Order: sequence, then C-alpha cells, then structure tokens
Amino acid sequence: MPGASGVNGEGSCEALCRTLVSQNGHQRETADISQSVLYTSLMGLLLVADNEKEKVTLGSGRIGLRNIGNTCFLNAVVQCLSHTCGLRDYCLLKSHRQEKFSKEEARLMEAFSELLSGLWVANEEDIVVNPRQFYNIFKEAVPYFSGYSQQDAQEFLRFLLDKLHTEINRRPYVRRAGKDPEQKYARIRLSEEAVAMWKTHLERDDSRIVDLFSGQLRSSLHCSVCSHYSNTFDVFCDLSLPLPKRSIAGVVTLKECLDLFSQEEKLDKENSPMCERCNRRTECTKRLSIQRFPQVIVIHLNRFTTSRWSISKSTVYVSFPLANLDLRPYGPVDCGPVLYDLYAICNHTGTVNMGHYTACCSDGNGWCFYNDSSVTPVSENQLQTNQAYVLFYQRSKSSATIRK
Ligand SMILES: [Zn+2]
Repeated sequence: MPGASGVNGEGSCEALCRTLVSQNGHQRETADISQSVLYTSLMGLLLVADNEKEKVTLGSGRIGLRNIGNTCFLNAVVQCLSHTCGLRDYCLLKSHRQEKFSKEEARLMEAFSELLSGLWVANEEDIVVNPRQFYNIFKEAVPYFSGYSQQDAQEFLRFLLDKLHTEINRRPYVRRAGKDPEQKYARIRLSEEAVAMWKTHLERDDSRIVDLFSGQLRSSLHCSVCSHYSNTFDVFCDLSLPLPKRSIAGVVTLKECLDLFSQEEKLDKENSPMCERCNRRTECTKRLSIQRFPQVIVIHLNRFTTSRWSISKSTVYVSFPLANLDLRPYGPVDCGPVLYDLYAICNHTGTVNMGHYTACCSDGNGWCFYNDSSVTPVSENQLQTNQAYVLFYQRSKSSATIRK
C-alpha cells in the first residue's frame, strides 16, 4: 500500500505549521487542532494532546472498511469524516474524555473514536477494519437505521453528527424546552441580530461538531403587500442543494446549484409565514443566504426527487472546484472572499433501489478511492464524475478569519 507512515514531506510540514499557527491563534474557530500538536519524527507523524497523556502515531489512513451487509453508505461517510482533520484528531486523542461535560457515557463517541483509531493505525499491513461494533451502537441510538436495507448516506451523516454532538455537548444541562426567543430586533443591525441568535445557539449547543460543521443560514422575507422585510436565522450542518432541472444527462456547475439554492423564491399566501406588519399571511418572496460560514461545509447534491408515487435519481454531471470554491456571493454583502478546498467526496452509483456508495478522500499526500474494503490511489482528474453526491470542503487557511 502506498503512502505508508513515515516522514511525509510537505503534508506533515504543512500540518505542523498549521498547528503551530493555531496554537498561537486566537480564535477557536480557526484552529484545526486546538487541543493538540503534530510532531514529525523518525517514527512517523505523531499526534500529541495538550496534556501529553495521549499520543498517537498516525498511519496513512489508507485502510478500508468491511461491508457487513448493505453498509457501503456507512463506510463511505465514515471515510469522509475520518479525513476531516479536526474531527479525526479529536477522536484519536479521545479528547471528549477530557472535556467530560455530562455524567452520561459517550458510547457512540467512544465507538466512533475506536473505529477511527483502527483506520489510522500505524502498522497497517493487510488490515480491513470491521465497523460492526460501531454500527450496532449507532443502531441502538437511532433505531430508524435497524434492518438491513440500503440507507441514504446523507441521512446517516446527519443522524451521526447529531448523536455525536448530543454526547459531547459542552452544555448538556441547559434546558431546551420551549421555543427560541422571538426574533424581534427591529432596531438593531442585522449582523447584531445574527450574532445574538448564534450566541443563543451556543448557549445550548456547543461541541467539537458545532465548532467544525455548524453555520448559520439567513432567510429573508419580503412582503409584497406592505414591503416589510424580515429575517430569520437557522443553524445548518450541511447545505442541501437542488439540481437545476435540465436535461437528465446534461452538465451543470456547482455554482449553478448554489445560485438556484439562493435564488429569490415567490411564496403564495398558503405557503408563506405571517407578515408581522400585515398580521396575516401574504404573498411574499424568500431568499436564503449564508450568514455565518462553518469551518467545514458539507454540500449535498440532492439527486433524489420524491414525487407522489416514486423516487427518481438524477445522474446529471455537476462540476465542482477542487480548490478555492468561493462562497462570497452567498454570504453577507460586506464579506470578503470565503474560500474552501475539497478534501472528500461521497459518491452514489446505480439507481434508487440498487445503489452503491464509495468515497474519494485526500490525506495531504494524494487522493484515494475508498470502496468498502478496497483502497486505491486516484488522480485528481478522476474525481469529478456524475456520481458525486456529498462534497466535503474545508475552509482554506488564507480565508479563515471568521466574521464576528
Ligand atoms: Zn406585509
């Protein structure tokens, strides 16, 4: 297997520099590895926690996962998450044990960390990791996934991140009954309103998962009767993008999907919320934009359309940038460039009923194709296919200044 552990030239130097920067850095959001340091040594890449209790020698991460019965959806998603450095390092160093916010056992987090440790083990000859124990614990936590039928990777990802978050929430005892406080801040600036809503969110939900994956979406409504503008803010952990309805086998760009997502939409009376000034439902227009960008943005290309009788899949080819995806046009008016680099892709091949999931992930030394137990190197020009289903982008260091 190529790229085994060892002193890995550029990749590890870059990681080390990044870590040192984040050690001196001021914002938790910009730090990839806030609790740990990476050292290069003759032994290989060493991950060391702040308290020096945990040390892990990193392997290449090029280890497959056994398919234990229609579990390719799980294998593909786990490989993508396993290449999310900020999450991987947290898991390998078992940082959740140091954080200890709740008396309850973090069973899923333990099992997930164990699984990732298996995938990054340093002596990796002929190893395939079996995800059974992790999957069993996951199914106990989310009974919806019991049974042996094929599951949707995107759904699995959402449930998994949500359950992990619940176990490692830094605010486990904050009461979450009742509704959010009413979003009425008519006299303060929009950005202050957004910050206030974000603070409210962090008072109840704050974890490594939130540090990495959560962003804030803004929904602006414009009443066509009285011209009143109002905004609501919601937390998101992924963007689910519609695909333009064009020829089934055509070519579209990720930008076109993003444009469609953020395009102004007309809502008729029945589907619109109450206008707070008219005090009734009125025709209005709605527009979505990103108010706060996450460190990792998960983009779901919504290939599946549910109609009344059936689900159909689009195999349209969506081209996407591998580096420097600029999300500035979808952010607040005054934000600078917001650049992201691709590091993982979850693919879906086949049809709605007979499908298979695989992943392509970058480990700093190149890209690999993860097909259950098999791992093979791929070149960059093989990454873009009409099977791309979920894209994982990491905010690039050059644009990592987080808006306040
Ligand atoms: Zn109105």
